[in-house]
Amino acid sequence: MTFEQLQLIPPIIKAIAKENYTQPTPIQEQAIPPVLAGRDLFGCAQTGTGKTAAFLLPIIQLLSTQQGPPKGKRVIRSLILTPTRELAIQISDNAKSYGCFTNLRCGVIVGGVTQRAQEQLLEKGTDILIATPGRLIDLMNQGFVDLRHVQILVLDEADRMLDMGFIHDMKRIIAKLPAKRQTLFFSATMPSEITSLVNTLLKNPVKIEI
Ligand code: AMP
Repeated sequence: MTFEQLQLIPPIIKAIAKENYTQPTPIQEQAIPPVLAGRDLFGCAQTGTGKTAAFLLPIIQLLSTQQGPPKGKRVIRSLILTPTRELAIQISDNAKSYGCFTNLRCGVIVGGVTQRAQEQLLEKGTDILIATPGRLIDLMNQGFVDLRHVQILVLDEADRMLDMGFIHDMKRIIAKLPAKRQTLFFSATMPSEITSLVNTLLKNPVKIEI
């Protein structure tokens, strides 16, 4: 299978070529069509499988082919929650590469650094926000974050977020999102807490196991 056969648009095909990816990985083959079709997704997959591109490529396509918001003010249309700072930065670097031929903006909110630049990012507006739960909650509590326009939520490495004690933060963040949205959920393992979270958060999801 080729990336063209997955119905990706030329700006994304061009960015993938720049990355020297020659063909989609199995999780990309299975995840990209349903995500483009607006479905919820539960992916049981480890890092190293290409799962980041499996969610970023269709998100970039969905957002870049939509009409922008009125008056050109950027709003957060996709929120990606991930357990660690390193993962957040990695996802953001990937999003910038895959979206380099679109006009989407992407930003990162993580702990362990000063807050000022992150406040400025939120004031300026971003289409895609990648965040670790703790710092996002801090900024939400201070009134810097508007999640009312989020259309696509990604929970990346959900099992690790639970292990790190982020469940309450995750629930408080998700409570601020529109109920009508697309949710993509990735976990490497499937303990019972994950299964129950999947059952409450996802609507008729496509399930992929790699
Ligand atoms: P991930 O599982 O998302 O952490 O990705 C693992 C690595 O595979 C990253 O370095 C990606 O840049 C790379 N990668 C993702 N998709 C492809 C692909 N279709 N072909 C070659 N490399 C890829």
